Amino acid sequence: MTLCFASNNKHKIEEIADMLGDTFVLQTLNDIGCYDDIPETADTIEGNSLLKAQYVWERYQINCFADDSGLEVAALGGAPGVMSARYAGEHGNHDRNIDLLLRNLGNDTNRSARFKTVITLIINGQQQQFTGILDGTIITERRGSHGFGYDPVFELSDTNRTLAEMTMTEKSQISHRARAFEKLTKHLNQS
Ligand code: IMP
Repeated sequence: MTLCFASNNKHKIEEIADMLGDTFVLQTLNDIGCYDDIPETADTIEGNSLLKAQYVWERYQINCFADDSGLEVAALGGAPGVMSARYAGEHGNHDRNIDLLLRNLGNDTNRSARFKTVITLIINGQQQQFTGILDGTIITERRGSHGFGYDPVFELSDTNRTLAEMTMTEKSQISHRARAFEKLTKHLNQS
């Protein structure tokens, strides 16, 4: 089966292609001739994931899936959530996003947080979502040099390591993204 992954992120595409195996031919947005900046205007992670998959299905009628991720912090009512990439204003400024997160949390003792990935799959117009969660806590100072985004301040539950203190291989085995992708591949390989 041919499936379009509504992404041009090389790392994510390689990761999922590896998990899907040979039964599936994976196409990127560029492969199907889509060079648009797909609008991400929903106010939830689920909504943005759905918007991206629907965008491809409605315009190209190609079976596809899309992902969207974010960090949800309990004491901040689930923020930054869908705003994770642009929490401090500028898209993808991870350093400023972390500074703002730590400022907003202040000395709050409830530091529970989770990363969430939602994948929306559309096959012949039928939609289905798969969610991957990674639980942890937000520490008060950055630790570690690997990864990206909020990794240096996200300490995994039941460990005293941040995601930035893990190698890419270690992280890719337990991450929210890996968990959502795992559910997707399991479903695709069963159907
Ligand atoms: P995306 O939907 O995968 O592009 O993720 C949106 C934003 O969520 C990123 O720009 C990061 O700020 C945050 N994020 C998602 N996944 C991770 C992760 O594994 N580590 C750290 N931050 C992440």
